[in-house]
Amino acid sequence: NENLIEVKNLKKYFDVKKGLFSRSDRQLKAVDDVSFSIKKGETLGLVGESGCGKTTAGRTLLKLYEPTSGQILFQGKPIEHLKFKEILPIRKKMQMIFQDPYASLDPRMTVGEIIGDPLDVHKICSGKDRADRIRELIELVGLKKDHINRYPHEFSGGQRQRIGIARALAVEPEFIVCDEPISALDVSIQAQVVNMLEELQEKFGLTYLFISHDLSMVRHISHKVGVMYLGSLVEIADANTLYTNMQHPYTKALLSALPIADPDLAEKSERIHLQGDVPSPLNPPPGCAFQTRCAYAVATCREVKPELKVIGSGHQVACHIVSS
Ligand code: SF4
Repeated sequence: NENLIEVKNLKKYFDVKKGLFSRSDRQLKAVDDVSFSIKKGETLGLVGESGCGKTTAGRTLLKLYEPTSGQILFQGKPIEHLKFKEILPIRKKMQMIFQDPYASLDPRMTVGEIIGDPLDVHKICSGKDRADRIRELIELVGLKKDHINRYPHEFSGGQRQRIGIARALAVEPEFIVCDEPISALDVSIQAQVVNMLEELQEKFGLTYLFISHDLSMVRHISHKVGVMYLGSLVEIADANTLYTNMQHPYTKALLSALPIADPDLAEKSERIHLQGDVPSPLNPPPGCAFQTRCAYAVATCREVKPELKVIGSGHQVACHIVSS
């Protein structure tokens, strides 16, 4: 099974103009030297607290943001340098499902117009074929054909997210960045949407980057999971390995908050409370970005940034005290 997406040393820095409290312009290192790959038909879950750079990583990968440096390979071909016109045919294969189904749909457009829009942008079909395709997509995501002339406000959050998914699927993509696709939905609806994404993956061989802070849902849907902290990947492994044999102190803290079904195990496991807040990405600590909150920090941690190193099959960790 080959890689559909490969990201090498990806960086996305934003310039922040000097303000009241700073004398000079600064850089916000939203994504700082991140590398990963996703195999065709699989899902990479990306987790971490808000502001850790996971959404920026997803957007930069799709070239919605220009990468500062690094490589993005789609089907083995570099795309990071492509300009708007050159990227259009590839954009068709790479779509995004947005976090907020309330904000991401134009309230003045009907469902038919919303789903038909990418068909027009990419000149995929017109006339009767276009109308048939829109109805087919509406049914594919579990809505009714006669919803075609309705407006987004007439639908529930879950239904709106289905419209967003139909819009993403219209151009027959191969890769979809799902950016917190369930976090704005009622808990009762979340599993339905995730199950539908899984069914669609199976049916069309889709590859996903699934960005979420819902660790249980990420475990459920992902083949591989990456944990981000302050713009960097600190651990990445197969989903099962990550959830049963996590090694990075930050991953351990994040996962310790998950409920454990087995009462014996639950009794033995301890919830790790992280000290303090996430430092500002404008002023990250030297050395390991996690050192200000890490209970295991040693002197080196305050000086040297740990590199991601392989500690097992497909398992990489960036921590000085973890050995292979
Ligand atoms: Fe903690 Fe040091 Fe490991 Fe960073 S490198 S996670 S500070 S032990």
